[in-house]
Amino acid sequence: MGRITPEQYKDTTPSAYTLGRIHSVETMGTVDGPGIRFVVFTQGCPMRCAYCHNPDTWKTHAGTLVRVEDLIDQFKRKRSFYKSGGVTVTGGEPLLQPEFVGDYFYAMHHGELGFVHTCLDTCGFAFDTNQIERFERVFAETDLVLLDIKHSDSIGHRQLTGQAPERILAFGDELARRKIKTIIRHVVVPGITDTTHECFELGKLIGSWRNIVGLEMLPYHTMGVNKYEQLGLSYKLEGVRAMDKERLPELRQAVLAGMKHVRTK
Ligand code: SF4
Repeated sequence: MGRITPEQYKDTTPSAYTLGRIHSVETMGTVDGPGIRFVVFTQGCPMRCAYCHNPDTWKTHAGTLVRVEDLIDQFKRKRSFYKSGGVTVTGGEPLLQPEFVGDYFYAMHHGELGFVHTCLDTCGFAFDTNQIERFERVFAETDLVLLDIKHSDSIGHRQLTGQAPERILAFGDELARRKIKTIIRHVVVPGITDTTHECFELGKLIGSWRNIVGLEMLPYHTMGVNKYEQLGLSYKLEGVRAMDKERLPELRQAVLAGMKHVRTK
């Protein structure tokens, strides 16, 4: 699509031929958005989260090239399953390919299928305020965002993900400005993000975003570790135990307290 201005955006035509690079699809997804969903995993991610259970999605030039229309065809085959759900794009990092995601979601809202609910599961890192026009269609056609906030502290964020948090927070600010429904996701890792202080600070970070409609505290697990062995990668959290789920309600309360702290200031 190339670079366009917001004014020009209005005149660009979404296309069912837009290409995207994907890792895989899951036809009966139940954890990434409401209801049963057709989930597309995009290929490529600039983050290196220590707990990532999809390291096979990291390489940008791997995976398979598909057109938007290929995904529509696959969706149609099981259409009746998705009545109370819809489609989700996750990754990898979907915002590396905003034209593809935007055109796919456009087809789900305005195409032959009628209206299909769209959900974007992202870490937000590929968002770029200097090229915001590339993301306009994604903003316009996304019904729900699942936004991962990895760590409340800038240094902690770098240590955990290999990247700074500023672009992610800029994306969160933009979603809030546009009032796009957003669920915040936070992976709780023993010894890293499992303190009430960390969770309170996270709440302070997101407290001003009035578009938040949910908060998911995800317990760290070790299910993806064998992928690292297969890929010949070292696993940074070797020896870290799975998160005790019983502590999640307490930590969730700490996030909510941090949000309240900002909102009652
Ligand atoms: S953002 Fe997601 S896909 Fe990318 S490294 Fe982190 S957990 Fe893995």
